[in-house]
Amino acid sequence: MAESPPGLETVACDLCGGDWSRPFARRQGMRVVRCLGCGLVYVSPRPGADAVQRHYNSGESSRIDYYVAAEAADRRSFSEVLDRAAALVPGRGDLLDIGPNIGTCLALARERGFRVHGIEINADAARYCREVRGLDVIAGTLEPETYPAGRFDVVLMGDVIEHLLSPSALMGTVDRILRPGGAVLISTPDISGWAARLLQVKPVEHLYYFDRSARLVRSAGLEVVAVAPLDRYHNLTAMVHSTTCRGLFRALAPAFRLARRALGDVVVKLPLGENLLAVARKPAS
Ligand SMILES: [Zn+2]
Repeated sequence: MAESPPGLETVACDLCGGDWSRPFARRQGMRVVRCLGCGLVYVSPRPGADAVQRHYNSGESSRIDYYVAAEAADRRSFSEVLDRAAALVPGRGDLLDIGPNIGTCLALARERGFRVHGIEINADAARYCREVRGLDVIAGTLEPETYPAGRFDVVLMGDVIEHLLSPSALMGTVDRILRPGGAVLISTPDISGWAARLLQVKPVEHLYYFDRSARLVRSAGLEVVAVAPLDRYHNLTAMVHSTTCRGLFRALAPAFRLARRALGDVVVKLPLGENLLAVARKPAS
């Protein structure tokens, strides 16, 4: 491997351990590469673990006010994900949301009869979940020993896996904390599509990029039930708060604020194929 610039570390492929890669993209002064062994797309060299932890508690990533503004749209997006979860686990049971942010999906899951739990890296967002919504959400990152084996019927990960230092380590933990027959639903940008390549290659936040092969899920020993395109509902008048659109919309912010005052929430589904939803199950025996 080549020598890393100061403060950054060169990493091997998280999925196959391979060292050989070719350039995929260069953004924000950082390099994104594709593993020549298995095809995984990832950032290398990259910031260390301390820098990542600081980033999510510094207010640099998407802020609570953005998620509050996006709630009407997010409820419609999460509703589709929870429909799939309920179809796989008809008895509902215990659901863990990894990275629930302000808990919009957890609140909806609770309305639908799941017993809900969350673990959130951003301490302010975790507090919002507890104090504003009365949700069982702890602040921190999911470690192998955080929950007992077989604890959950459903695990959700929405827009989380691409941020992690080691997605394969987390998938091992997810496999452990799921009960046999339990389901995991993962949404993430779909790097094989043009929309994600244009809008979601953000190496400071997104360290890994996935496609519909679901290799990561299979390598954790889970059975893939479906991998489908997932298009989100967006609140057009709230998009001014998004980190994806920050540069683009900063100049237009006053116009968006006026539009929001005049029109309220304008919720639309943009059929961009920007994200994928991987649905998988832990084998029953
Ligand atoms: Zn690889």
